[in-house]
Amino acid sequence: MRNGRILISGAGIAGPCLAYWLQRFGFEPVLIERAPALRTGGYIIDFWGLGFDVAEKMGLVPALRRDSCQIDDVRIVDVKGRKTGGFSVRAFSALAKGRYLSILRSDLSRLIFACLGRRTRTMFGDTITGIYQDATGVDVTFQAAPPERFDLVIGAGGLHSPVRRLVFGPREWFEKYLGYYIASFSVENYPRRDAHTYVTYSAPGLQVSRYSLRDGRTVFLLAFASAARLPLPAHDLTAQKDALRRSFRWAGWECREILDALDGCEELYFDSVSQIRMQSWQEGRIALVGDACFCPSLLAGQGSALAMAAAYILAGELARTDGDYRLAFPAYEHLLQPLLVRKQRAAESFARSFVPQTELGILMRNSVTRLMAFAPFARLFMGRFLRDPLTLPNYP
Ligand SMILES: Cc1cc2nc3c(=O)[nH]c(=O)nc-3n(C[C@H](O)[C@H](O)[C@H](O)COP(=O)(O)OP(=O)(O)OC[C@H]3O[C@@H](n4cnc5c(N)ncnc54)[C@H](O)[C@@H]3O)c2cc1C
Repeated sequence: MRNGRILISGAGIAGPCLAYWLQRFGFEPVLIERAPALRTGGYIIDFWGLGFDVAEKMGLVPALRRDSCQIDDVRIVDVKGRKTGGFSVRAFSALAKGRYLSILRSDLSRLIFACLGRRTRTMFGDTITGIYQDATGVDVTFQAAPPERFDLVIGAGGLHSPVRRLVFGPREWFEKYLGYYIASFSVENYPRRDAHTYVTYSAPGLQVSRYSLRDGRTVFLLAFASAARLPLPAHDLTAQKDALRRSFRWAGWECREILDALDGCEELYFDSVSQIRMQSWQEGRIALVGDACFCPSLLAGQGSALAMAAAYILAGELARTDGDYRLAFPAYEHLLQPLLVRKQRAAESFARSFVPQTELGILMRNSVTRLMAFAPFARLFMGRFLRDPLTLPNYP
């Protein structure tokens, strides 16, 4: 196999999935992850479509089902906690013919990573600082480890990918901000629990949801509209908590209690809701995969699944071409780009109604969710969204 030594930057979803398939096809991947260990906690994702197909090929589905979050209902409540909208998740599952589940993103990442066993070398707590490619390979420098030479480098570092920044340009060149900020955290012993129910409350421009996990923790997702990007320093937990307090302090329902819970939390996911749009995902011996090059945003409800599909196809094309990246990278891009353009457009149009900005908008959104109880309406509204117009190729 040519170009066998491949460095993958980022051990989220795409990175470990790519390492698994590369290893299975006979390559020698090395994973580097900035965090000292796999990230835990975080938000719940819905998982279906092409990602489900890849998980099936990896024999992962039983473990995913075992560790999934059972969500029977999405319940939308008003300021007094009374139900005003929502739908049964069974409708989605039926539309996806049972190939649908919800799981913590960190659990999906952990289960994919576990498939690697001990065969893949992993460098936790380090990051790439320089990439220099020539005709025969790529020299990489790291913050901690000594420099090393690889045949190929793949950036799987998500929305803030360092490989994209170093090789293709700053994030601002490729980012499309969709008008929201999103935050997620989990706490133990939150007093209110609703088993198997995703409870959501909206006020104009704000939305907060909670879900009670099996182990006693509660996971929260907070979203707020902001016409412009906020001048917040990256990784500044205090500034992020302040921004959430400013937005949700007067919001009603359980928001005060949720902000109290936030006070004691040390791990917070906080970011803009953005997409990454790039003309090309490759530059010589370097390519990108997952959110790093095509982040569709949470509004697509499928970023993880698409990251897995892309990882599988990238590894498969490298295997099919016997490691010839000059053929494999364009083939990978060619297969996936039309699908991703479509997913990004759909997510962008959903952005207009994701967090309604007026009381009337909330009322209308709640009415639509109630109609989801009727199968023909659910099919009409969600059917197209749940279908992926691409079949995964089979690689030897
Ligand atoms: C609130 C929310 C809800 C979502 N809901 C869904 C959903 O319902 N369904 C769905 O499928 N998707 C959903 N998504 C999207 C999904 O989480 C992403 O699309 C997916 O995680 C992308 O995987 P990735 O591996 O490309 O990037 P990531 O999962 O972001 O992983 C990137 C990894 O790279 C690491 N990294 C970053 N910088 C460096 C560096 N300098 N050096 C080394 N490593 C680095 C990070 O620590 C991380 O481990 C949601 C996203 C959000 C924010």
